[in-house]
Amino acid sequence: MGDTFLVVAEGRDGKLRQVSFETIRAAKQAMRDGDRIAAALIGDGVSAFAGEIGRCGVDRVYVVDHAELSRYNPEAYFPALAAIVDRASPDAIFFGHTAVGRDLAPKLAAQLGAGQISDVVSLEKDGGGEWLLTRPLYAGKAFETRRFAQRPAVVTVRPNNFAAAEVAEGAAAEVEAVPYAPPASPGLRTIVKEVVRKASGKIDLTEAKIVVSGGRGVKSAEGFQVLERLADVLGAAVGASRGACDAGYCDYALQIGQTGKVVTPEIYIACGISGAIQHLAGMSRSRIIIAINKDPEAPIFKVADYGIVGDLFEVVPLLTEEFKKALA
Ligand SMILES: Cc1cc2nc3c(=O)[nH]c(=O)nc-3n(C[C@H](O)[C@H](O)[C@H](O)COP(=O)(O)OP(=O)(O)OC[C@H]3O[C@@H](n4cnc5c(N)ncnc54)[C@H](O)[C@@H]3O)c2cc1C
Repeated sequence: MGDTFLVVAEGRDGKLRQVSFETIRAAKQAMRDGDRIAAALIGDGVSAFAGEIGRCGVDRVYVVDHAELSRYNPEAYFPALAAIVDRASPDAIFFGHTAVGRDLAPKLAAQLGAGQISDVVSLEKDGGGEWLLTRPLYAGKAFETRRFAQRPAVVTVRPNNFAAAEVAEGAAAEVEAVPYAPPASPGLRTIVKEVVRKASGKIDLTEAKIVVSGGRGVKSAEGFQVLERLADVLGAAVGASRGACDAGYCDYALQIGQTGKVVTPEIYIACGISGAIQHLAGMSRSRIIIAINKDPEAPIFKVADYGIVGDLFEVVPLLTEEFKKALA
């Protein structure tokens, strides 16, 4: 009998997160003939996602749908995950490398006595079919490739590095509701009272296909509106350097880099960002980097695929108008 894979999918704001489809693809890359793959859905109202995730080529969807799981709390979520793992007996469990995945995966690995490889950006197989998992080190300055010496195996997958598994119309998976009882009295030791979303939040920065990012060269909060107009036309998310956040031009929720978010979009447009190593740590794996900077010697041009030497307040509005025409 083959191995069983379990992918822990995540829903947010009424839809499945893109990283869930990418994580299914990563797990499928590891599979061999005869292996089986299941998805896990945990939360309040997540049954609504079972059909869609079931059309991504998984064999079964395990669902824990409970009102007590409306806000992520590891104390409440972990027993739900443990119940699914108990039911599925997986040989490999794949999570997105998200706040939730990073929190749950090590706890599960410890409970199972499993090895864990985190923040995986590529997965290949050697001649013997062993998985070779690559992950960045030292804020992206180096990469290491690891393999598991035993099963079960726990993996977290960095968003935007694997193509999303496709949803096939007509396909369907068996859906199994897994019983769950919230932790009994004295109950949870911590309770999430409120979640305050800081980013403007139109598009999730870590999942965006295009990011328009601003640095200290944007000069003010009003200056960021110039970038927001370009982002709106492109359907992009807005990001920032720490320089811009420190200067108070935007919220720290937008910060990209070593101490901010790591993004790997298809297109990264850096406006008025010098290209400090700590910033590059968060964006240098973007597929195409476009830099706009008035200093031709700015280090960002060393990593850029396309560079525009000029004043961003002239260049960005021109680009916005041209993209608007081209995309109309
Ligand atoms: C421990 C540590 C962690 C850090 N973590 C991070 C991190 O996570 N993310 C991060 O970003 N930084 C981080 N930093 C800070 C980092 O070292 C840089 O200070 C920061 O990235 C600089 O931001 P910046 O490029 O916006 O500003 P600057 O370096 O000041 O660059 C501004 C750029 O704008 C250009 N410019 C100015 N006006 C215009 C204009 N009108 N048109 C076009 N271009 C213009 C200038 O030529 C310049 O290149 C960290 C630093 C430390 C020590």
